[in-house]
Amino acid sequence: MTKINNVVIIGAGPAGCVCGYLLEKAGVNCVIVDYATFPREKICGGGLTPKAYELLKELMPDLRYEFQGVKHFRLMMDGKTLCEVDIAKELRMVRRKDFDNELLKQYLAVGGKLVKDAFSCFEKQKDGTVLVKLKSGEQMVCDYLVGADGANSQVRKQLTGRRPKNTLWMEQYVEKGVNEFIFEFSNQYKKGYYFSFPSVNRDVVGMGGFYSSADEIRSQLSMNTIRGKAAANGFVLKGAYISVDTVESGKNHVILIGDAGGFANKLTYEGLYYAIATGRNAYKAILEGKEFAITNREIYRKKKKEVYITRLFYSRFGLWLVRMGAHSPKLIKKAFEMNY
Ligand SMILES: Cc1cc2nc3c(=O)[nH]c(=O)nc-3n(C[C@H](O)[C@H](O)[C@H](O)COP(=O)(O)OP(=O)(O)OC[C@H]3O[C@@H](n4cnc5c(N)ncnc54)[C@H](O)[C@@H]3O)c2cc1C
Repeated sequence: MTKINNVVIIGAGPAGCVCGYLLEKAGVNCVIVDYATFPREKICGGGLTPKAYELLKELMPDLRYEFQGVKHFRLMMDGKTLCEVDIAKELRMVRRKDFDNELLKQYLAVGGKLVKDAFSCFEKQKDGTVLVKLKSGEQMVCDYLVGADGANSQVRKQLTGRRPKNTLWMEQYVEKGVNEFIFEFSNQYKKGYYFSFPSVNRDVVGMGGFYSSADEIRSQLSMNTIRGKAAANGFVLKGAYISVDTVESGKNHVILIGDAGGFANKLTYEGLYYAIATGRNAYKAILEGKEFAITNREIYRKKKKEVYITRLFYSRFGLWLVRMGAHSPKLIKKAFEMNY
């Protein structure tokens, strides 16, 4: 039997849960489909910037989650410290398994439905509705389909018919060290960086960018001595993609949000803020009957700007500028705080 819902969301990550929570709260009937059993793991540094947790507080005032606050950061280049900075507002480091589960609980608490299944395909119907087919054979009809199914989005694949420009990231947990986060850049890295983030009960180290294989990153990481040879301590190195190839969607009542829409920051690869913000913008589009291109205008504008800034930053000239700029930690602090 075909089930009828106002909105079907594929993916119960932060983008899907924020969108579903806001819609349900506003009285719009919603179902989220996810193939994972929650609480589920998600490979992620788990860094929430102030703009991310402040927006989340505004949207989900009852949400509570465990985090480690960090204010100290170290900027490194080619293995050497360029400067150390204390930022005004803390970054909150969360464990995604627990954090995402809390977001899902918020959605369920306002009456949202969750179906454990995998997205198969969708069909636009003559009456304007969307028929969604799931792997189990179940079918759903909805007014809007929201693709919040992450960097390897199948909704996006069907909508655009092309593979996104994904960046590959690898990370592993390590024992707790100093309560600081580290970013290391180098001309040797492929438009990405090495990171070390403290987190709840453990730290996470990794790197990523435009690498073609996990072996390439593994070999880069094995030479990196910032946190010692982390791979030796028994924790497993795991990888996942981040898509920075932004897609325009929404015209035919199929909206892509979060990583599915390629909304992560092209320079810093921060994705959580963009998942939350585009989730909110999809909710607005659906509730107000506006095009997503309009409610999400601000984010699209940011994405266009990021293309140029990223090109400059990850050039030899850009990294030289960072090296020079680091003589003034105040300048680095300002530049960092401008974006967080
Ligand atoms: C190594 C690494 C480190 C990162 N560190 C940070 C960081 O510190 N800070 C930050 O802001 N961002 C970080 N990111 C990016 C961040 O993880 C993502 O931007 C964020 O998870 C996007 O949220 P989302 O809801 O769009 O997608 P996801 O969190 O990926 O959720 C997608 C959901 O869809 C489900 N799904 C997928 N396909 C299907 C299907 N076919 N059918 C049904 N369900 C499906 C999945 O099970 C999943 O639950 C990092 C990413 C990586 C890879």
